[in-house]
Amino acid sequence: MSEFAADKPEDVPDADIDQREIENDDAPKTRSESLCPCKSGNSYYICCMPLHHGKAKARTAEELMRSRYSAYFFRLVDYLVETTHPDSREPGLKKELAKSVHNISWQFLTIVDTSKGGTKDKVGKVEFIAKCFVQGEPHELHERSRFRRYKGAWKYLDGVALGDS
Ligand SMILES: [Zn+2]
Repeated sequence: MSEFAADKPEDVPDADIDQREIENDDAPKTRSESLCPCKSGNSYYICCMPLHHGKAKARTAEELMRSRYSAYFFRLVDYLVETTHPDSREPGLKKELAKSVHNISWQFLTIVDTSKGGTKDKVGKVEFIAKCFVQGEPHELHERSRFRRYKGAWKYLDGVALGDS
């Protein structure tokens, strides 16, 4: 008897539909509703977007790392420059990024390991593997990045490329 009801999922009573949160100010799926490129499993809206928009600060080195990956993904050059530690901010960094971000299309991020980089730390390391295409060719970037706080905010200091394994 009840199996008939189960067979017709489209027959949802109106009341149920009304109770759902329908955020529909932008009809097509927007960037903010999509899953964050950093592969956190959260939507961009609650993940890296607040960081990119200056509404929140990375609490951990890993959060900053993820937000920088997403910034590479979306080619947010200003954010990349701003989150680079002043000690590592080469004069031509912005120009170089503005050029290079367009040659790379990022595919996947895996955080391999972290050391320190917590809410009470001043330094931290994040090892990650980022997959990308560089001018159509698949590449894998395996790096251990160093992060250091500057005026309280996490910044990217530098990174060591870890050879192909
Ligand atoms: Zn994210």
